[in-house]
Amino acid sequence: MNIDIFTLFPEWFEWLRAQRHVRNAIARGSRIDCVDIREHTHLSGRQVDDAPYGGGAGMVLRVDVMDAALKAHYGEDPVRLRQSRRVIALSPHGRLLDERYVCELAEERELTLLCGRYEGFDERIIEHFATESLSVGRYVLSGGELAAMVVCDAVLRKLPGALGDERSAAEESFGEALDGMPEYPHYTRPASHRGWPVPEVLLSGDHAEIADWRRRQSVERARRLSDG
Ligand code: SAH
Repeated sequence: MNIDIFTLFPEWFEWLRAQRHVRNAIARGSRIDCVDIREHTHLSGRQVDDAPYGGGAGMVLRVDVMDAALKAHYGEDPVRLRQSRRVIALSPHGRLLDERYVCELAEERELTLLCGRYEGFDERIIEHFATESLSVGRYVLSGGELAAMVVCDAVLRKLPGALGDERSAAEESFGEALDGMPEYPHYTRPASHRGWPVPEVLLSGDHAEIADWRRRQSVERARRLSDG
């Protein structure tokens, strides 16, 4: 999986690349490349944004600068680019990232993530260059970088070998093995701490009983989630 990230803060992603499961994914051939949008502006003072037409607070990321950055990186008109790869604009109002969306993205060989800043993108960026908008939740971050990292983290851990232990990915919240339900609770040593015991069934060694208990816990959590 190759993920290209268009950002004003490429250095933020050094941290992400250093994380173990991301390193594992990179060692197995995945890539996270950053393109510094600022490198592609024709404006003086390395300007990439401008005041919004119609007035209002804040600055808007310019469409001509994003056009130039995409064209320079891919050597292709960005209007056509989106026919061959998913170009995702990170936006608070976009399609909400969930397990289904993550699995869908993990199937792709290449992804492009566009990180907004300030008041966000000139709408023409979304309309003409992006295949979709993605939101990590209905709240507003200061920029798309953390949202892009959420996407990279969630998607890369789906790839074979990214997690040390394959089973940790198989039986996880919202996955197929749990029929889309949240995972059951976990406990480890000590068996009792400050008088808080571990559920007895987990110490019983009875695998069928344990599987049954875990299933019931997942069902209960799913019920609570759907009750809001
Ligand atoms: N003025 C905009 C918010 C801009 S925040 C509004 O009111 O909707 C600046 C940038 O941060 C956005 O362009 C987007 O790239 C990113 N961002 C902020 N919140 C986000 C979220 N919940 N999901 C994905 N990206 C987000």
